[in-house]
Amino acid sequence: MIPEGNALQQYLNTLYRDYAALDEGEVASYIPELTKADPAWFGIALVTVDGHVYQSGDTRQAFTIQSISKAITYGLALDDSGIPSVLGKVDVEPSGEAFNEISLEPGTGRPRNPMINAGAIATVALIAGDTADEKLARMLKTYERYLGRQVTIDEEVYRSEKSTGHRNRAIAYLLRNSNIIEKDTDEILDVYFKQCSILVDCRDLALMGATLANDGVNPITSVRALTSPLVPKVLSVMNSCGMYDYSGAWVYEVGMPAKSGVGGGVMAVLPGQFGLAVFSPKLDVRGNSVRGIAACKKISSDFGLHVLQTGRMTTTSVIHVRYNAAQIPSKRSRAAIQTRALSTLGERVVVFELAGDLVFSSAEIIVSEAMGAMDTADFLILDFRRAPRIAQGAVCLLVALIQSLGQGGKTVLLTGIADKFDVAREIRRRVTAVELEPLLGCEDVDHALEWCEDRLLADHAATISTEVPLAHQAFCEGFSPEELAGLEVIMERRDYAPGAAVCREGEVAESIFFILRGQVSVNIPLEHRRAGRISMLSAGSAFGEMALFDQGVRTADIIADGPVTCLELDFARLEADSSPLHARIRYQLVRNIARGLSRKLRQLTGEVRLLRR
Ligand code: GLN
Repeated sequence: MIPEGNALQQYLNTLYRDYAALDEGEVASYIPELTKADPAWFGIALVTVDGHVYQSGDTRQAFTIQSISKAITYGLALDDSGIPSVLGKVDVEPSGEAFNEISLEPGTGRPRNPMINAGAIATVALIAGDTADEKLARMLKTYERYLGRQVTIDEEVYRSEKSTGHRNRAIAYLLRNSNIIEKDTDEILDVYFKQCSILVDCRDLALMGATLANDGVNPITSVRALTSPLVPKVLSVMNSCGMYDYSGAWVYEVGMPAKSGVGGGVMAVLPGQFGLAVFSPKLDVRGNSVRGIAACKKISSDFGLHVLQTGRMTTTSVIHVRYNAAQIPSKRSRAAIQTRALSTLGERVVVFELAGDLVFSSAEIIVSEAMGAMDTADFLILDFRRAPRIAQGAVCLLVALIQSLGQGGKTVLLTGIADKFDVAREIRRRVTAVELEPLLGCEDVDHALEWCEDRLLADHAATISTEVPLAHQAFCEGFSPEELAGLEVIMERRDYAPGAAVCREGEVAESIFFILRGQVSVNIPLEHRRAGRISMLSAGSAFGEMALFDQGVRTADIIADGPVTCLELDFARLEADSSPLHARIRYQLVRNIARGLSRKLRQLTGEVRLLRR
C-alpha cells in the first residue's frame, strides 16, 4: 500500500515524529503570559513558491509572532522611509549579542541591526503614520498581504509584555536620547509590544517565508506584500542577524535566511524555492526554538539546501531544444520549389527554445551558444515560452546579444514573451538601432519561423528572380502537361505595381489568382483605417479560391508587397468548356483546393487547441 501524502509530506511526518522526542530547552518566562504555552506543541510547515502547502503537527495552533515580526516591520519601514533614511537610523551589522542587548554604535547611538530589540524599536519609528494607531494599522494591513487574511493581537500577551518590558523601555529612552527616535517613546513602544503580540500559526509563518522567497508576492493569493528590490534587503539582515547571537553558526550550518521569536517560531526562507516554519515553544539559552533549530538543520542537510550550495547551469538545462528551419520549417504550406529552397536556406534560421528561469549564468550560456551558432546563420529565434521568469541580469545580457548581433547585420526574434510585460518594456527601452518589429512582433516560434523564411525566400527570389511557373504552383500538383497547357490558355496574365490592390474586400469574387512572382498581403480593414494583416502569400500560392464554391464577395484586401505577377482564372471560363480535358482540369483543381482548405482548417484547429490550453 502506498502511504498517504506525497514524498515531501511523508518526509515532514517522519521529521515531526523524530524531533517530537527532542525534549530540551525551556518555554520563555520573562514575559509571564508566554509561560502558558504547552511545551509539547510542535509543528512543521513548508510552502513552496508555487503555493503548495505541506504541514505536519500543530501547524494551526496560534501563538505570538514575537521577534519574527522584526523582519516584516523592517521591510515596511524601508518601503515607507526609503533605504538611506533607514540606514541612517539603524545599521545592518551583526551584533553577536543577545536579542535584548543594548547594542548601540558608540557616537551615533545607532542600533547595530534591525533584528535585535534596539533596532526593531527604532524601525517602528520609521513606519509611516503620525500616531501609534496609524502605524499599527499599516502594519496589520501588511500582514494581511503576507498572509491573505486579517490578523489579531493577543491582548493578554501584549499587556503582559507592556507591564514587564522595562528593559525595552530603557532601550527606547536611550534611542530617544541620541535622537534615533525623534518622538514619544511610549507610542513607539506600544506599537512594538503589539507587533510582537500578533497571533500567527506555523502555516502562516511558512507562507510569510514563501512570500519572501517568491520575490515579495504571496504565492497563494498573488498579492504583493513587499516591493521586489526590498526583498534582498530584508533577507540580508535575516541572514546575518536573524537568529540573534546564533546567527553565524546558523548560516554556517543551515544556510537559509531566517528569523526566530521567543514565542517558539522559526521562519526560514530559501529564495526562489520555499518558506519553511517550525513552531515549538521550548527555547535554548539564546531564545531560539530548540526543535526549530534541530529540524531546520536536518532538512537543510538532508536536501542540501544551503543557499550558497549552488547548482550549475549547463547548455542542456537552459536550451531545451535547438534546431534550424531546415530541420523544422514553419507550418505554412508553400509551393514545392519554395519548400525545396528552404530545405537548405532554412539552415540560416537558428531556434533556441529556452527552459527554466533565466538568470545571469543561464543567459550567459545562451549568449555564448548563440554567438557560435550565428557564425553561419542570419536569424536567431529565442523562445521564452518555457522560461517563466527572466531576471534582470539575464535581460541585460540578452540586450547586449541583440545589439551585437544587430550590428553584425543579424536579426534576433523573441517569442513567448507576450505575457512578460516588464521584460518586453525593458528590452524596448534598452535596445537601440534595432527594429522592434520583428524583434518583439512574433507571438510564437511558428510565426517567427514563417517571417524568417519569407525573408530568406524574398532575398533568394531577388537573386534568381525567376517566376514560379504554373507547373510548380501549389494548386497544380498532379496536373499532366496537357492539363497544364489547357489551363494556361484560359488564364490572363496580370502585373501589379508595389502597393497596388489586386482585389478589395466586398468586390464580387469571380476568379482565382495564382501568384507567379512577388508576394501579397492579405489585409482585413479594421476600425480607424488601420489594416490588420492576416497572412502573406508568396509566389507559388494562390488566393480567391473560396469563391469557386460560394460565388460570394472578397473577404479581404489583397495588396501587392512589391512587383507582383499573377495568372487570373475566371470561373466562367473554367465552366465554359465541356470537353473531357476541361472536366479533368476542373476535377484536379477542385481536389487540390479542397486539400489546401482542409490543411488550413487542421492548422487552425491545432492553433485553437494550443490557445485554449
Ligand atoms: N517581544 C519580545 C521582546 O522584546 C521579542 C523578543 C524575541 O522574540 N526575541 O523581548
